[in-house]
Amino acid sequence: MTDPAFATAAHIAAVHKRLGESYGMPVWSQPGEPPIDELVGSFLGQNTSDVNSSRAFAALKAAYPSWLAVMDAPLDELTAVIRSCGLANRKAPRIQKALRTILVKCGDFDLRWLADLPVDEARAWLTELDGIGNKSASILLLFGLNRPAFPVDTHVHRVTRRLGLAPDSASPDKVMGIVERHAPGAWFYPLHLNLIRHGRQVCQARQPRCRACVLRDLCETGRVTVPASES
Ligand code: SF4
Repeated sequence: MTDPAFATAAHIAAVHKRLGESYGMPVWSQPGEPPIDELVGSFLGQNTSDVNSSRAFAALKAAYPSWLAVMDAPLDELTAVIRSCGLANRKAPRIQKALRTILVKCGDFDLRWLADLPVDEARAWLTELDGIGNKSASILLLFGLNRPAFPVDTHVHRVTRRLGLAPDSASPDKVMGIVERHAPGAWFYPLHLNLIRHGRQVCQARQPRCRACVLRDLCETGRVTVPASES
């Protein structure tokens, strides 16, 4: 009998390779902005579209010259500045609280030191901030610091479970753990981006396009929705 851990690793490897052949292998490059920008952006991006969150982030940067100024801004003023991202009443105090916590703990807003910690420790530090979960922490670590953390957003969560890489009942955190245990960290950046792209373009939430899918022979769901006789 095949070792389940080996089977999962082989399954992830096959999916990673196939997606890379279809979409290319995105390569990490140093972002122009510091990790604290990613962190604040993750607050703004909760429960809203990329467009609305980018608009709110641009408004924030235009309104305040520094993160210190954001931290000290009158709460109602900050709420008005970021209103385009929705839930501004909840997000504004969380941003200020996180900035205060970081300033007290670190002495400034530079989070680059997190790159020197093991990923689990860095993620644990970040998730102590109110409103930051494993997904946001992993995004900061992967995109901002090139650390081997695997963020699981709604697309990654849906596609990985349909593929059978994780049980249907698996939470995003469980999927994160499965991928981080069974795949090399160097794959996390391209795999994350390619799964999102696949989820947006092919394995859509309401109607997966299984007949057009390059992963069909690797997919538990695809094997059911498209019988072998039609393959
Ligand atoms: S075969 Fe269907 S369910 Fe499986 S990944 Fe492709 S589109 Fe999604």
